[in-house]
Amino acid sequence: MISEDRIRELAGRRTSTVVTSCYLDVDGRRHPRPADYAAPLERLMRDGRERAAGFGPEAARSVAADLDRIADWVRRGFDRSRVRGLAFFACSDDGWFEVVESPLPVANGIVVNHTPHVRPLESVLQAYERFAVVLVDRQRARLFRFELGELTEHTEVFEAALRDVTAAAAGPGHPAQGSRGAAVQRRIDEAAHRNLKHAADVAFAELQRRPVDHVILGGPHEVVVEFEGLLHPWVRQRVVDRLAIPATAGADEVRQAALCVEAAVARRNEAALVERLRDGVGTGAGVAGLEATLAALVERRVDVLLVSDGYETEGWRCRSCRYLGPLGRRCPVCATEMDLVADVVEEAVEEALANSCRVQMVRESADLDVLGRIGALLRF
Ligand SMILES: [Zn+2]
Repeated sequence: MISEDRIRELAGRRTSTVVTSCYLDVDGRRHPRPADYAAPLERLMRDGRERAAGFGPEAARSVAADLDRIADWVRRGFDRSRVRGLAFFACSDDGWFEVVESPLPVANGIVVNHTPHVRPLESVLQAYERFAVVLVDRQRARLFRFELGELTEHTEVFEAALRDVTAAAAGPGHPAQGSRGAAVQRRIDEAAHRNLKHAADVAFAELQRRPVDHVILGGPHEVVVEFEGLLHPWVRQRVVDRLAIPATAGADEVRQAALCVEAAVARRNEAALVERLRDGVGTGAGVAGLEATLAALVERRVDVLLVSDGYETEGWRCRSCRYLGPLGRRCPVCATEMDLVADVVEEAVEEALANSCRVQMVRESADLDVLGRIGALLRF
């Protein structure tokens, strides 16, 4: 998976000849069958061979071996449920081959150079929403980060804080007979409250140090309510959900719960973007429909491209100036004869990704369908 450290390590890698950096979009929402990305992969292999030729025969041999290995890797298959983009970095001369699986789609592309091309991975890292999961009960607090599909536990941040609540409650003093039970209970509650307050402070410090976009809380309902009240507003504003899972839950249970919340947040984000698009069309903030959207892409005005899942239609692409349009055959920009492409929507997505626009696939949105199944929020 992707991390800052891994990207830095890749970027710093030096090899004896050239490095092949290859990105393949395998997003299951647009490419349901492996055959759907076989043709783009073929095209990348061809481009790669052409580019390698410019570096001399020795480099070309190394790149050819890199490409074979990449094609083999893709053919063998991978877990498509959580991988939507692949990045390969290879230098066969040095016996180096690395695959980075991305939970967000990447634009198809191949670069042959003396250093690895990591910028698309940086964009994925920036676009990805980060979650923290904080589980609490009267005895403990646990903190997890859920980023790029991976769950990691960071409960050690609380360790200095964790005192045995019962031991704290048994502290000095001998309450009078009769009220003993109530006094002990009060001390237990006070100690639990102090620990919760401390956990809330520690969680704030930790999440300030390495920020997240969303916080998920979990544990017994009344403890979660109390804990939420103790959180710094910065953390409280980021709480997206409260889960009825025990604070002792296993990593698998936490991960499943986080995945569900992540999916719900994604659906909410999708709906909010479609609403912004609906409101923006006509005001200049957005365009809808194939023709207007392709025009905005060509003019590099797109900030977010929205596409209905499964939308495909044919169109035209100019090889010379990259113009995209619904009608051919002569390019209205440079008058070159354009190519008829089977799916101009796919070309639009690639173009958007290549220009570092955000691409949002939208599931079952009647609002977007009415707008023509494709649209864009504009930069200007
Ligand atoms: Zn043209």
